[in-house]
Amino acid sequence: MSLEKLADLIYPDINKTIEDYIKMYPKRNLKEGAKVTRYAPSPTGFQHIGGVFSALIDERLAVQSGGVFYLRIEDTDQKREVEGAVEDTISTMHNFGLNFHEGMTGKDTSKGDYGPYRQSERAEIYKTFAKHLILKGLAYPCFCNADELNALREKQIAEKITPGYYGEYAHCRNLSTEEAIEKIERGESYILRLKSPGNSDNKVVLQDLIKGEVVFPENNQDIVLIKGDGLPTYHFAHVVDDYLMKTTHVIRGEEWLSSAPIHLQLFEVLGFEPPKYAHTPTIMKQDEGSKRKLSKRKDPEAAVSYYREVGYPVQSVIEYLLNIINSGFETWRAENPFADSYDFEIALDKMSKSGALFDLVKLSDVSKDVISRMKATEVYEKYTEWAKEFDPQMYELVTANESMAKEIFNIDREGPKPRKDYAKWMDVREKIFYFFDELFYKETVDQIELPKNVDMEEAKRIIAAYAEAYNFDADKDTWFEELKAVGEQLGYTANRKEFKANPENFKGMIADVAAVVRAALTHRANTPDLYTIMHVMGEEKVRDRFAKF
Ligand code: GLU
Repeated sequence: MSLEKLADLIYPDINKTIEDYIKMYPKRNLKEGAKVTRYAPSPTGFQHIGGVFSALIDERLAVQSGGVFYLRIEDTDQKREVEGAVEDTISTMHNFGLNFHEGMTGKDTSKGDYGPYRQSERAEIYKTFAKHLILKGLAYPCFCNADELNALREKQIAEKITPGYYGEYAHCRNLSTEEAIEKIERGESYILRLKSPGNSDNKVVLQDLIKGEVVFPENNQDIVLIKGDGLPTYHFAHVVDDYLMKTTHVIRGEEWLSSAPIHLQLFEVLGFEPPKYAHTPTIMKQDEGSKRKLSKRKDPEAAVSYYREVGYPVQSVIEYLLNIINSGFETWRAENPFADSYDFEIALDKMSKSGALFDLVKLSDVSKDVISRMKATEVYEKYTEWAKEFDPQMYELVTANESMAKEIFNIDREGPKPRKDYAKWMDVREKIFYFFDELFYKETVDQIELPKNVDMEEAKRIIAAYAEAYNFDADKDTWFEELKAVGEQLGYTANRKEFKANPENFKGMIADVAAVVRAALTHRANTPDLYTIMHVMGEEKVRDRFAKF
């Protein structure tokens, strides 16, 4: 009787029962084995690459099994909410090809029958579940203030006992219901705690889908269910929401692993079957010989926005993350170079149990492969889309010379071993600047890369002689013969043996002559095939560069 009075005093307006909600959220009509997963970010405005990692696992598992992948916004910590964060999450995920079947679709919009999908709109639901626990004697109001809790903690630490609000230390747990009612009526403020039925001498076992069997002591802490602002803690919201929304697989960061016993206990006291759990390894980075967490503060690559800004194609990031999820991806990709990466089946039990190492060098390797598999037109489209926002000058130059740009992107692309020049769109400029007079004459005139044994005077002599003999229309073999003839006249040889035997008889090798031609046209020592470059540039530009050299 007095529990009822207490429950009504705390929640006078809550008239529904948990049975009402259980009816409102029926079993989902899905085929056997279909997985229901969710991405459940707090809208703090910062998109960590770990979020994409996590959402990718959720999305793959749901889609591979014919299930549902939904977006739930966990905004119970309202101080941390940032304007626009929900929309940003949705568009970021969409950009990575991760589309929610259900959940929030915008700041105030959603789709699906298992909502609301924003926790702050579910306050009444949590209160109903909390009221149910009060009525069953499994939750109670706690009036201790922060100072009292700190004092308790300090005392426990000094006495070397497990800190926390539990058992004999849980002062308000031991108040009588009448005392609690009296305090509330007197206007004292309070929060709501679980009256934990657990005993830390007992063990609970979690069969984690990534970590395997994990054994914990049973939870005995009277954790907070409802905070002073009337909203639930993560623990309580997780259990209520994932139960009602019929999540089958909770995939979340391993920082939550240690609270799993709390969650298992909450499912138990509510009489619900818990979902399956998979705790994903934290994304780490190698830093001066040791591993550490990828940090929002220190590492630009922690932010999802970084990849867009420097121009890693979305596909590269996805393939790299699939690599981290299951190392077998790399072999699969080698065997299926042109398959859709989504045809690769991910499996949680093949995931590394410890830290997932994030490595930009490896990402760049993956990305070079991804870009090398694209057609030149796709490279053109993706590059210009990036440049439009991040390198307007290149955007102007490349779009004004569209057909040349497509030829440039096609150099050595179609063969069995395509070039792997670019890891990200930001790399393109340095690799192709010399095709554009605007950049060629401005940016690199004082950094002309000549072979070691050729000085500028000699280089000029070579170019003057070569310009005269040069025939644009020659086929590749004839072209090379002509270049060789010019070189031989000037004292260079094509015969390495002779050159090695009597270096004093020659100025150098024909390769040096070719390198000078390359330098005159590109200022660079390393470029794709020279003959091809000359043809992409066209006769006029080639002659003009010789003349100006
Ligand atoms: N809102 C929680 C977080 O961002 C979600 C964890 C979970 O997926 O349950 O860490």
